[in-house]
Amino acid sequence: MKVKRAAKYGFCSGVRIADLKVKRFAAGGGRGAILGQVVHNERVVEEMENLGVRTVHEIAAVEEPTIVFSAHGVPPYFHDAARNRGLQILDTTCKFVYDIHREAKKALADGFHLVFIGDPKHREVIGYTNDLDPATYHIVSKMDEAENVDWSPYAKIKVFYQTTLNAEDFEDVVQTIERRARGVERGDTICYATKENQDAARVLAADPEVDVIIVIGGKKSANTRHLWDICAEAKPAYLVQGATDIDPAWLKDAGVVGLTAGSSTPDYVIDEVEQALTGM
Ligand code: SF4
Repeated sequence: MKVKRAAKYGFCSGVRIADLKVKRFAAGGGRGAILGQVVHNERVVEEMENLGVRTVHEIAAVEEPTIVFSAHGVPPYFHDAARNRGLQILDTTCKFVYDIHREAKKALADGFHLVFIGDPKHREVIGYTNDLDPATYHIVSKMDEAENVDWSPYAKIKVFYQTTLNAEDFEDVVQTIERRARGVERGDTICYATKENQDAARVLAADPEVDVIIVIGGKKSANTRHLWDICAEAKPAYLVQGATDIDPAWLKDAGVVGLTAGSSTPDYVIDEVEQALTGM
């Protein structure tokens, strides 16, 4: 079985740095707990737990001296809440997420109403909005939501995208807001890492040599699901978390298997899957 990797796949710079920071902390004897998954990948969570850095889901559950904030970032208030509990903070929030926090704060100070295009339950979006007055922003991801809001009270609107979205998928939604509102500006907040992985997945899916595509990533990883969507439009595509999820029946007529991975998939899992495929 021949395996062809996409030109770009796997860990983005933000996740690579977050992963390194936590590993260095653990290797130095640090004791901490991560608030939510450090990245959306169950294997990475397991690996962190083996290093002694467990995952918790609320600040109150941290018994260790240090709390780790993940690459997705947290509401600014969480920093105070952690300090008030006497915790030290290991902040692995991605630089690009911090850029949006900063830009949104500035836009608010400049009198803009904020619109976040994204999933209201995603931790990154919760980080941007949790501390804000609900009257100062909307979170929109569907056309009917954009249509049902009365945008007329807002003189200026600034649109921010959740970093991992594919902007093209939400073009109609943003254009709807632009048609119905005055003074709409768009922030350039889509992360290049996600786009590069998506562009490379498109090229892989269009490659006539490739028969089937395996997409590797965590079950809860939104960007991995986007990669799968792109690949599945052109070829049979399967989402796996690791080598053990591969069903040989998927590959029985395949000569060349394409391989890509979400931005929270560690290198060793990708190598493991490739080895399993080439051994088939
Ligand atoms: S996908 Fe982009 S914004 Fe998100 S952690 Fe990675 S580099 Fe940062």
